Amino acid sequence: MDTVKLNNGVEIPQLGFGVFQVTDLKQCKQAVLDAINSGYRLIDTAAAYQNETAVGEAIKESGVDRKDLFITSKLWVSDMNYERAKKGIETSLNNLGLDYLDMYLLHQPYGDTNGAWRALTEAYKAGKIRAIGVSNFYADQLKDLELSSEVKPVVNQIEVNPWYQQKQEVAFNQGEDVKVEAWAPFAEGKHDVFTNETIAEIGKKYNKSNGQVMLRWLLQRGIIVIPKSVHQQRMIENFDVFDFKLSDDEMKTMATLDKNESQFFDHRDPTTIEQIFGSSLAQLK
Ligand code: NAP
Repeated sequence: MDTVKLNNGVEIPQLGFGVFQVTDLKQCKQAVLDAINSGYRLIDTAAAYQNETAVGEAIKESGVDRKDLFITSKLWVSDMNYERAKKGIETSLNNLGLDYLDMYLLHQPYGDTNGAWRALTEAYKAGKIRAIGVSNFYADQLKDLELSSEVKPVVNQIEVNPWYQQKQEVAFNQGEDVKVEAWAPFAEGKHDVFTNETIAEIGKKYNKSNGQVMLRWLLQRGIIVIPKSVHQQRMIENFDVFDFKLSDDEMKTMATLDKNESQFFDHRDPTTIEQIFGSSLAQLK
């Protein structure tokens, strides 16, 4: 498994497993167990996914040494200030049944992110979290946090997939030595990404699926990826991406697919912000 060194020296597997929208806890536990048995060591959950307990049970049952796993969770907007974030961190640890988290992220760039960041910084210094980062932060928000804080984020988890390649944002984050972690690396299947002919043509040469080509393309851009699947066969397929390499021309062909538009929501749109704060998850405690 390829790993990436974060700006605080901690190593993170470059390919991991995400559990967004796996709300059935039995299914989530089984999916994480299957993922670990398939070789995944990085698991990405969040308070807002409401499945931290299932992830924790799978971790325990897997029998894999805690130090060999890399567990990420995220603080939701309902906890986005100093006092609430302190509690939010403890809640995530309790839900997961862990003494420490490998990484904890501010899930969205809303609310009192600076206050919440101070709480994450304290937990980091106390050894409760090995690395702290952010998610869905634009370049200006990231720069602001960097300049106004003692500890720099290690990661910015943002949407990156063939339809929304985020070339500028990826370059900015990487230039700041903040690793980009791609969410929705398959755009959740939108616009028939799994059968797209341009991607399939590249895959044919290596006998690889569209999913495998997309992951390989992200890995070669220096991006950390966390695909989700509840099917073990697909987990195995998505993990089997370290025995081929896309050529420069193939990387350029992938670059032409960019629609330059989020496949989900614009984090700058006031309506999105209203929806996020207005959702039932905003009351999550
Ligand atoms: P994704 O990984 O782009 O796509 C998941 C979808 O692709 C599922 O419907 C899955 O179906 C299907 N799939 C997976 N592998 C496949 C394969 N080999 N062939 C065909 N279909 C396949 O979407 P995502 O779950 O939204 O993103 C990944 C992770 O990123 C999440 O789980 C979460 O951890 C994180 N995330 C973070 C944020 C954030 O704001 N920070 C937002 C979204 C997601 P099955 O499950 O039925 O196989």
